[in-house]
Amino acid sequence: MLAHDLNVDLHMHSTASDVVVAPADLAVRGAANGLHLMALTDHDTIDGLGQAEEAARDLGIEFLNGVEISVSWGGVTLHLVGLGFDRESLALQAGLQGVQTSRLERARAMDDSLVKHGMPSVFDHAMSYAGNPALIGRTHFARALVAEGICKGMQEVFDRYLTPNKPGYVPHEWARLRSAMDWIISAGGTPVLAHPARYKLTDTAHWALMQEFMQLGGRALEVSTGSHSLDDTRRYQRLSVELGLHASRGSDFHSPTESRCDVGLAPALPDGTSPVWAGWAH
Ligand code: AMP
Ligand code: MN
Ligand code: MN
Ligand code: MN
Repeated sequence: MLAHDLNVDLHMHSTASDVVVAPADLAVRGAANGLHLMALTDHDTIDGLGQAEEAARDLGIEFLNGVEISVSWGGVTLHLVGLGFDRESLALQAGLQGVQTSRLERARAMDDSLVKHGMPSVFDHAMSYAGNPALIGRTHFARALVAEGICKGMQEVFDRYLTPNKPGYVPHEWARLRSAMDWIISAGGTPVLAHPARYKLTDTAHWALMQEFMQLGGRALEVSTGSHSLDDTRRYQRLSVELGLHASRGSDFHSPTESRCDVGLAPALPDGTSPVWAGWAH
């Protein structure tokens, strides 16, 4: 079968980061949707990979190691997906460890800021949703604020409380782009820029990002993702071709109720793109 025609999902999350579905259950969801190849890409951790790989194997799904690293670049937060690396890499493990250390302090600061704005403290409640306390983040806070009836849904929480200049948002220094790229590449992996349409950048900054990403060894743009509109997908299809980059596809699955698409159900990669998985899928 041509690489283009395979059902591939190279972006999803599990209980190891900010999702209520266990790594093995992602493979089960994928199998139900006819998935051929998957990568688990939790935020800043590779802890779920062993379990996901075992489950995928049992279900006849090919598996790639993956991770989604939080990066600070040009005043915004970027997400860099790494694929197909050696998960024993000490440089990668140490790098991710560094990104994790700061999440707990940031969560405390987020809670303090919400309390200062007259909200109840939801720190413990948010923590109760974190499968791994070191990976505490905005998604866990959002779930707590919805469960406590403060907001009706996840989108409302992010819009009112958890995005820049809102009461629960605390600016944070994540990994540097150069470092995150080095961790992935030195572990033998392929760096992919996740959901590029989501970053609020000027045209000039956007162009600079593409140049820097490529100079540092970037290989692919995530073209088809649950985070892109149809227009976004078309735009990045064109850009990937223009820049000579491969294209990736991923659901960015977070939960059956919170995600736009389930595992294996992101829009297909448009024609004319070069699938980043061509060398991996058999
Ligand atoms: P953090 O890494 O702690 O800053 O959390 C980022 C995570 O929050 C993302 O990976 C998404 O899961 C979630 N998120 C960010 N913005 C939104 C949004 N507007 N609606 C729903 N979830 C969001
Ligand atoms: Mn997330
Ligand atoms: Mn992301
Ligand atoms: Mn993601």
